[in-house]
Amino acid sequence: MPTSDSLVDLRSDTVTQPTPAMREAMMAAPLGDDVFATDPSVNALQEKIAAMLGFEAALFVPTGTQSNLCAILSHCGRGDEYIVGQQAHCYRWEGGGAAVFGSVQPQPLDHAGDGTLPLAQIEAAIKPDDAHFARTRLLALENTLGGKLLPFEYVQAATDLAKGKGLQRHLDGARLFNAATAQAALNRHSDIRAEARRIAQCFDSVSVCFSKGLGAPVGSALVGSREFIARAHRIRKMAGGGMRQAGLLAAAASHALDHHVDRLADDHALAQRLAQGLEGIEGLKVEAPQTNIVFVDLVGAAQSRSAELLASLNAQGILATGLYRLRFVTHLDVDAAGVDRAVAAIRAFFKS
Ligand SMILES: *Cc1c(COP(=O)(O)O)cnc(C)c1O
Repeated sequence: MPTSDSLVDLRSDTVTQPTPAMREAMMAAPLGDDVFATDPSVNALQEKIAAMLGFEAALFVPTGTQSNLCAILSHCGRGDEYIVGQQAHCYRWEGGGAAVFGSVQPQPLDHAGDGTLPLAQIEAAIKPDDAHFARTRLLALENTLGGKLLPFEYVQAATDLAKGKGLQRHLDGARLFNAATAQAALNRHSDIRAEARRIAQCFDSVSVCFSKGLGAPVGSALVGSREFIARAHRIRKMAGGGMRQAGLLAAAASHALDHHVDRLADDHALAQRLAQGLEGIEGLKVEAPQTNIVFVDLVGAAQSRSAELLASLNAQGILATGLYRLRFVTHLDVDAAGVDRAVAAIRAFFKS
């Protein structure tokens, strides 16, 4: 439901409200108790996402953070380590959960400009079997990363390298379907599910968020082998993620998989529209978006005006974030009129 008349909320794709059809699906969902594994809507969702991505099993979890935690703690034990990007959510933005709860040490690597972790760096970070070192067990990639699609050839090469060295491979695919949408566009077709599956199949486990671009209110899924998901299930319970009549939420996620995958291209088009609208404003450097996230840097004399700009936009009912860089995210509840309003307000700000 576009809200361009009142609020244009570009802070994140997590802010969407469930659509009327999604609410209906939630109300109609048959429910059980998922801690007894007898919630039919949760079970159906888990089967749907596992089959869609080509895995044996799936686990519905409340958040992407818990999904990554369950994954890392299922792949690694105390004293093991995972190789991960400096900007990766499961390293930088999850309170150090893998280290705190699992005594699993991260081995962060710097990203190249395109978001990849250079293969030579990955290889150099894998420790020999020696008492001095933590045991390197896992490579964790993220796609999309900061809205960037990792090149598919890179994903293949990095995960092949990891496999060859005996590492497990986890994908934080919070925005996997955005990645798949961009990949399908590159390959000039519209079979987003096929691309999602192709990317996912490079990994031993994949986490997907329903509460981002897919527009569900709550929830993520972790997919993997039956044995892996059994381990993750135990960790989910320890983390307090065993939910009861969770089918209410699973039904929203299921609805999102059925109805909100093919529309992600609209969000990407709106991000392009926003980026193009901001082109040529003195003091703004706009990074061309590949998916639904637009990063903008203030340069030169404008550099110190970020808080002032955000406050001015906020006063006009246009919300964005600027923790490091200005960030605008398009989603289900933003339309072209809203994007145009944001562009006009930003242009007006820099004229003043
Ligand atoms: C949002 C996000 C998560 C975590 O999801 P929450 O549901 O907010 O815990 C994990 N990884 C990535 C890449 C994300 O964007």
